[in-house]
Amino acid sequence: MPELEQAPQRGQAPQLGQAPQLEQAPQLEQALREVAAEMAERADRGDVASYIPQLSKIDPKKFGIAAVTNDGRVLTAGDADEAFSIQSISKVFTLTLALGNVGDALWQRVGREPSGNPFNSIVQLEHENGIPRNPFINAGAIVVSDILLAGHQPREAIGEILRFIQFLADDDTIIIDREVAASERATGFRNFALANYMKSFGNLNHAPELALGVYFHHCAIAMSCRQLALAGRFLANGGNNPATGHSVVSAERARRIGAMMLTCGHYDGSGDFAFRVGIPGKSGVGGGILGIVPGVASLAVWSPGLNANGNSRLGSIALEKLAKMMNWSIFAP
Ligand code: GLU
Repeated sequence: MPELEQAPQRGQAPQLGQAPQLEQAPQLEQALREVAAEMAERADRGDVASYIPQLSKIDPKKFGIAAVTNDGRVLTAGDADEAFSIQSISKVFTLTLALGNVGDALWQRVGREPSGNPFNSIVQLEHENGIPRNPFINAGAIVVSDILLAGHQPREAIGEILRFIQFLADDDTIIIDREVAASERATGFRNFALANYMKSFGNLNHAPELALGVYFHHCAIAMSCRQLALAGRFLANGGNNPATGHSVVSAERARRIGAMMLTCGHYDGSGDFAFRVGIPGKSGVGGGILGIVPGVASLAVWSPGLNANGNSRLGSIALEKLAKMMNWSIFAP
């Protein structure tokens, strides 16, 4: 049964009338409940990621979903309060921070095109002189970590990322799962290869192991669906936190981050996700997906089993169903 409550507010009272009341709220509550009930029954849950040993221990039966609407409702169903490893979803937040630090100069070191290749592919890097295709594949996110390291020790950069996410979600209890970070470091040979390769092209300013230290730790941030949907709400609300009215990024930047999510947010399954779901989303191999319905709501879903492209199998199906039930698509009239 989804819970309905007011989103937490930081500092000041929400400006009333700021976002129109969502007329579909009762429908949304019902839709979340139905989707969660259906997903709980399904046997075709995909395979939990095993290349990061710590992730392989997660129960594939878990399923959680949360929606935070721009008018301040937080609706959840299933295991929406259980923390999971957000993995690549963290790349949305590191990109946001890095754009804040260096602005459009970031795009000289990272591209903006879908890769059409697996998230950890090294082949493309050779053809493209060490410039990763986009900030959401591993190579691109490692460059973003390198940007966030400027003028900092790795510990400080990691702390800055964590505090930013805590601020966005208005929740200081969000933590980094150090065991996941250590597990990934111990087995991250391909990420070491990517970082060293980019260093050889001059596209890392710091030692590869320092950029990777930041990267492994931000991928290991643990959040629940509720926390994740709260952290993403600025993207659904033109760059402003709808609970406080405070600007996180400009409206233009929020749109551009959304565009990156739509075109590059699901590895080489990005086209299929856009086709089936029709909203910007970012997935992670922990089985989470952050979805943005511009002007309406921020969504988070978690089901640990992955499909062939490394995206949450039931999470993608759940968002497809929800979007259809609510008639949500950035292409809807
Ligand atoms: N930390 C993971 C890796 O580098 C992220 C994978 C993902 O969620 O895409 O392999």
